[in-house]
Amino acid sequence: SLCCFQVIRCRAAVAWAAGKPLSVEEVEVAPPKAGEVRVKIVATGICHTDEHLLEGSFPNVDFPVIPGHEGAGIVESVGQGVTSVKPGDKVIPLCIPHCGECSFCLNPESNYCLKSHLSESQNLLPDKTSRFTCKGKTIHHFLWVSSFAEYTVIPEYAVAKIDAAAPLDKVCLLGCGFSTGYGAAINTAKVKPGSTCAVFGVGGVGLSVVMGCKAAGASRIIAIDINKDKFAKAKELGATECISPHDFKKPIQEVLTEMTGHGVDYSFEVIGRADTMTAALASCNMNTGVCVMVGVPAAGSVISVDPMLLLSGRTWKGTLLGGWKMRDCITKLVSSYLEKKFNSDALITHTLPIAKVNEGFELLRAGKR
Ligand code: NAD
Ligand code: ZN
Ligand code: ZN
Repeated sequence: SLCCFQVIRCRAAVAWAAGKPLSVEEVEVAPPKAGEVRVKIVATGICHTDEHLLEGSFPNVDFPVIPGHEGAGIVESVGQGVTSVKPGDKVIPLCIPHCGECSFCLNPESNYCLKSHLSESQNLLPDKTSRFTCKGKTIHHFLWVSSFAEYTVIPEYAVAKIDAAAPLDKVCLLGCGFSTGYGAAINTAKVKPGSTCAVFGVGGVGLSVVMGCKAAGASRIIAIDINKDKFAKAKELGATECISPHDFKKPIQEVLTEMTGHGVDYSFEVIGRADTMTAALASCNMNTGVCVMVGVPAAGSVISVDPMLLLSGRTWKGTLLGGWKMRDCITKLVSSYLEKKFNSDALITHTLPIAKVNEGFELLRAGKR
């Protein structure tokens, strides 16, 4: 019906320029074009990747932009040809799309999609236009999600329908942080029962790694963070030991090697720094150790490593969204959430209205969430 194809006026947190606070504005959200879906966002998390965006760390992202990529909502209207979702369906937007047709999507080992933003140098929808305007200006999308808007438009292949019983204010975390960390342990590292793991950085994503290691049956999970306020939650979720690099004179990789004899079986870097990435690599077993990079480094970062660290047999790999093929997996993850197979609710520290979005970022910067 025609009513579905009107411009919607709603609030959104707009980043006008890098390094500036967000401003909550009234924006216009155009109707979805063919193959697109307009979603009423009900809840969104704040992931450190949004903070990287505000800092201007992504050279491919144009401002002004509406950030947010960890949302959940309800389909408001669909464009021509959309068949997988309909108005009223609960959905989670996927920050890695899943077109199901490209060579990466067809590869069962891959969770990347060639339609994804990493292979494009702008942040508009696939037809190179935006559905957002504010004060007469075009506002860019972020990862085709832009969940800091009350309504957003997303390509059909970047949304997945989820169980109607799912609480959107909780499962939004499955859109990025929880799935990334949990999947990094289960899918990317393939943590084995009885193994020893080290998790560098126990913010929201690192805590999810801890949960994944525990679910995979790791017997020892060592959390490493410079903020000791993070340790209580890490222990509650499965960390067996928590250490701060500030408490040791020696480099942390030496501390971990001494604690474990020959290094950990699996290490995870969940901070986004070059120095902790190499420390995590050196912390795992010289021959059979697996190190997974989860943190997003600053643009232009370069790592130099002693090649012997790898020559001796270690495996160093990265992960995007925990390796899940999103459109199939998010639905299953939501079902597992509803069956209480994991407790991602433990990651929720504060719930704020959109008007207080800057306060949310202050909490993130202060390490309080
Ligand atoms: P966060 O800010 O909540 O947590 C980061 C943690 O690292 C904090 O607890 C902080 O105290 C700790 N830390 C900082 N410097 C440290 C140091 N030198 N040594 C030890 N600990 C240190 O962030 P988050 O939302 O959990 O995200 C973590 C990282 O994961 C970010 O870089 C984010 O961009 C990235 N990320 C990657 C993916 C992916 O697909 N690979 C997905 C989501 C997030
Ligand atoms: Zn994220
Ligand atoms: Zn694809």
